[in-house]
Amino acid sequence: MEKKEFQAESKRLLEMMINSIYTQKEIFLRELISNASDAIDKIYYKALTDDSLTFEKDSYYIKVSADKEARTLTLTDTGIGMTKEELENNLGVIAKSGSLAFKNENESKEGHDIIGQFGVGFYSAFMVADVVTVVSRALGSSEAYKWESEGTDGYSIEPHQKDSVGTVITLTLKENTEDENFDEYLEEYKLKSIIKKYSDFIRYPIKMDVTVQKPKEDSADNELEDHEEEQTINSMVPIWRKNKSELTDEDYINFYQEKRYGFDNPLKHIHISVDGMLRYNAILYIPENIPFDYYSKEFEKGLELYSSGVLIMDKCADVLPDYFSFVKGMVDSEDLSLNISREMLQHDRQLKQIAKNIKNKIKSELQSLLKNDRENYEQFYKSFGRQLKYGVYSDFGSNKNDLQDLLMFYSSKEKKMVTLDEYVSNMPEDQKYIYYASGDSYERIDKLPQTEMVSEKGYEILYFTEDIDEFAIKMLMTYKEKEFKSVSSGDLGIEEEISKEDNDTEESNNKELFDYMKDILGDKVKDVRASKRLKSHPVCLSTEGEVTIEMEKILQQMPDNQNVKADKVLEINVNHEVFEKLRTSFESDKDKVKLFTGLLYNQALLIEGLPIQDPVEFTNDICKVMV
Ligand code: ADP
Ligand code: MG
Repeated sequence: MEKKEFQAESKRLLEMMINSIYTQKEIFLRELISNASDAIDKIYYKALTDDSLTFEKDSYYIKVSADKEARTLTLTDTGIGMTKEELENNLGVIAKSGSLAFKNENESKEGHDIIGQFGVGFYSAFMVADVVTVVSRALGSSEAYKWESEGTDGYSIEPHQKDSVGTVITLTLKENTEDENFDEYLEEYKLKSIIKKYSDFIRYPIKMDVTVQKPKEDSADNELEDHEEEQTINSMVPIWRKNKSELTDEDYINFYQEKRYGFDNPLKHIHISVDGMLRYNAILYIPENIPFDYYSKEFEKGLELYSSGVLIMDKCADVLPDYFSFVKGMVDSEDLSLNISREMLQHDRQLKQIAKNIKNKIKSELQSLLKNDRENYEQFYKSFGRQLKYGVYSDFGSNKNDLQDLLMFYSSKEKKMVTLDEYVSNMPEDQKYIYYASGDSYERIDKLPQTEMVSEKGYEILYFTEDIDEFAIKMLMTYKEKEFKSVSSGDLGIEEEISKEDNDTEESNNKELFDYMKDILGDKVKDVRASKRLKSHPVCLSTEGEVTIEMEKILQQMPDNQNVKADKVLEINVNHEVFEKLRTSFESDKDKVKLFTGLLYNQALLIEGLPIQDPVEFTNDICKVMV
């Protein structure tokens, strides 16, 4: 028996490997299975060019078996095996990858499914095992060898008996410690779940002897007994590698549910296969419902990331922009630059390119959903429209061009959701602006006095009921060169029925009265004025400047709100009977004007859904009018 020490650097590296490269110990199984799969792949690739070799798919497999008594876990594969030299080179020298070399030699003959590249994965076995024994017989060789190591010290190598080509790796598990239970790697359910999680799409069967219950033979009353049965644990063929035409909607739904991307059904799936400079496959889903934690801090966006069918990351956030964070699914690519533990990615061009592709694809699929399946789009929008609006607003509006055509708002005229494009196409020629009104609900906005003039003019009004709406629109500024305008803003830009001169005369005729009212209200309002927009209501509030009343409400709720207030103007309808009353009272009874002004101001606040400073005083004032 030859005994060899690891090279000095290897020793240090091995220690590092065992203790710090991987965050999860269960990864060792993924690594050993990947190696076994590579070993079978190598026969497959060799057979492509070597006429003396045939590749009978059915005779290739990987088997995982546990022996609880001996506390050993064994992986058997029918792959290409290793010669004595290969055992020394590939397992005796850390960071030496026979697989990478194979891939390079076969570059032209599509060896790209091979997983290995770093030459370290094998040593992850020492995270869970004290002793690792490898018995291997190489293809085309009649001899077999046994390689054995207890970790950092070195390894021994000696001839051994093995009847068939392939490799058998036996791990003698470490003793349990206080915080680590290595026995669980002998449990059927645990092994199954690790295999399912990381290696479900390995292309060769991963078999295990599992215990199933079967009816007892010659038993009348259906008694059951335990039975050992060999089963294939992995699904083998990744759905994303299949041809789209072979797949049904049901297949996609099943995959969504198997993967637990959501508890609902997906609203739409997107299957991407790109094969060119950049190679990747992706299956993406737009969920039907909002995940329960979607708008909470706990929610983590991201897609599952696979490299050649092996799971690398549960949630890779870099491949999805925030405004599409509701998208679920997976990406698989052979071209990713993985870091050595295969748990993370180097931030590379490929990944950026994939992310960009995915973003554009989602965008165009949403656009086609909007165009061709309005009902489902509206359902989607109900769940995730808010996220799109955040997307318009965030990053200083840098994504607004991508998103503006996906936005929808409720329309006063159509009584349903319309897109901005639909709004603009419906505008009469003389209409200059895109009008909107904000409030808590459609019903409430319907009754806003400020909408009267615009509605009467026959113009459509978009109803903003979500807190983000106005902020997003402020970021857009214009759509198809049309500016957005709040129906509460100072100047509506309408050729008013009440002409400017008329209004100016009203203004100057009543200047004294308005000044008096302004004095009464103090700095609660910026001005009191004759209204150009009111038809049937006596008063309303409008705003000047950037901050509207809805924005004030939202900003006031924020923790450090700095008390931002809208500049409010109390507008009076000079054609209303109430105004007549004000005017006569101004001549004869100033106290009444005071009382009325307070009442009118509070009414205007109520209509806007703003709180009244002193409700008791308000109700007392109403009583004064009643008696
Ligand atoms: P990598 O897989 O990244 O190359 P590993 O440390 O996992 O690195 O494996 C090192 C090398 O050992 C592999 O490249 C391969 O040549 C060889 N090897 C490991 N396991 C097997 C196996 N089951 N059958 C054949 N060769 C193997
Ligand atoms: Mg490997």
